[in-house]
Amino acid sequence: MPQVKSIIVVALFVSSGLFGFDSPAAAQNDKRAFKAGASMSNITPPLGELIVGGWRPMPATHIHDELYAKCLVLDDGTTKLAIVLCDNVGIPQVVFDHAKQRASKATGIPASRMLLASTHTHSATTARGPSKVVREDELTDYQQFLVSRISDGIRRAVNQLEPAHIGWGAVDEPSEVFNRRWFVKDDKLSANPFGGTDRVRMNPPRGSDLLDKPAGPIDPQVSFISVRSVDGRPIALLANYSLHYVGGVKPGDVSADYFGYFATYIAKHLGAAGQKPAFVTMLSNGTSGDINNINFTAKTRKRYERYEKMQEVARKVADRVAAAHSKVEFKAWVPLAAAYHDLPLKVRRPTPAMLEYLDRYLSDKPVEGKPRHSREPIYAMRIARLKNAPDVIEVPLQVVRIGDLGIAAIPFETFAETGLELKKKGPFAQTFTIELANGSFGYLPTPRQHDLGGYETWLGTNYVERHASEKIVAKLLEMFETLHNSSKPAAASR
Ligand SMILES: [Zn+2]
Repeated sequence: MPQVKSIIVVALFVSSGLFGFDSPAAAQNDKRAFKAGASMSNITPPLGELIVGGWRPMPATHIHDELYAKCLVLDDGTTKLAIVLCDNVGIPQVVFDHAKQRASKATGIPASRMLLASTHTHSATTARGPSKVVREDELTDYQQFLVSRISDGIRRAVNQLEPAHIGWGAVDEPSEVFNRRWFVKDDKLSANPFGGTDRVRMNPPRGSDLLDKPAGPIDPQVSFISVRSVDGRPIALLANYSLHYVGGVKPGDVSADYFGYFATYIAKHLGAAGQKPAFVTMLSNGTSGDINNINFTAKTRKRYERYEKMQEVARKVADRVAAAHSKVEFKAWVPLAAAYHDLPLKVRRPTPAMLEYLDRYLSDKPVEGKPRHSREPIYAMRIARLKNAPDVIEVPLQVVRIGDLGIAAIPFETFAETGLELKKKGPFAQTFTIELANGSFGYLPTPRQHDLGGYETWLGTNYVERHASEKIVAKLLEMFETLHNSSKPAAASR
């Protein structure tokens, strides 16, 4: 009899340890054991690959600083979660899906509990296919490299799981975020590449008297989650700020932008530079589809050396986080949960007027009296490519719960007002959104912003139906509610 019993115990151990199944016995044994592990996988591309952050792709000719997939795995004794931040401008869903499947097979963590996102550095090489809405199942060499590096990163973080304490906080840094969409006083500034005029202009001329007011808010909040070993050694820090990127790199350089410098400064603040195993800092992008680092109303501007400004911004944000970090209350255990949903969205189609205008462009018959817009060729090409797009795409939505903190994951370049709405309406004490998570489907303006027009709303920059942001927010709030109501009573008291 005793022999039979031990076999059952071994079987339970194997099933919960290796494959991550949530068995009641494992919950009883480990419910108070909170663990964390972190790792960094180098994902620097070979030189010659195309950098795609600007209008014209250019081959990478130098590596200024290495790119990483930074991985954090958390384990509350019954549920494991993986969060990975990749230094890239936008990794498509197909690459993340392959990485999740591979990592899930090796670690037993369900793919639905893996949140994989891009930082949106504009100085990384492309991990995309030709279209944001047509799924390409044949992966390029660099995409395959990303799949294995991300998946290995999750496995290595699991290998390094150790008893840990966790805490979080938030602090405002309003001085480095500016809404980049402006109402302007001259229609010439707000022409679009479809022969029409918008009501707002993205990145208007700085310091111009023709600027009226910004078309949307900013979100000044920097949120962060900190994990350390039980004896106080920093393991990882995940921060979130709604700033597109900073830039100021040398053309042809590969760089992680200010996301990379932030990690260096935080490690210094926490005394974790050069530590083994490495302290891992991930700066995730919040909701920055309409936010950048340019003060449009300033009449004079400081000249910066290359890489100088991104260091200035990274240092400022890191200083703020470090000061707030010193007040964080670390907890020995918190419940973890995640939920995932594929939301169907209609793919936008060109209007007859748009097609007619672009036809004239392609047949080189300009519309009389209309100056040519410099982006017409690009948008004519993007719209032509939409012929192969499906009518409906399913976009991955995800929510994560860490104690009374909620994280929403949206696979678009999301506007600040959407992030602010989720922060306001979410049921948790603290909430933030990671954009470009689990995929990269272009910009996500709200219906109000669609009415105003501007670059982010143009078909070929945005691809999904007008009410997509409202559908996404409604679904995420519903998913948040479900997670919020499903607390784990047996262990929630600590
Ligand atoms: Zn961008």
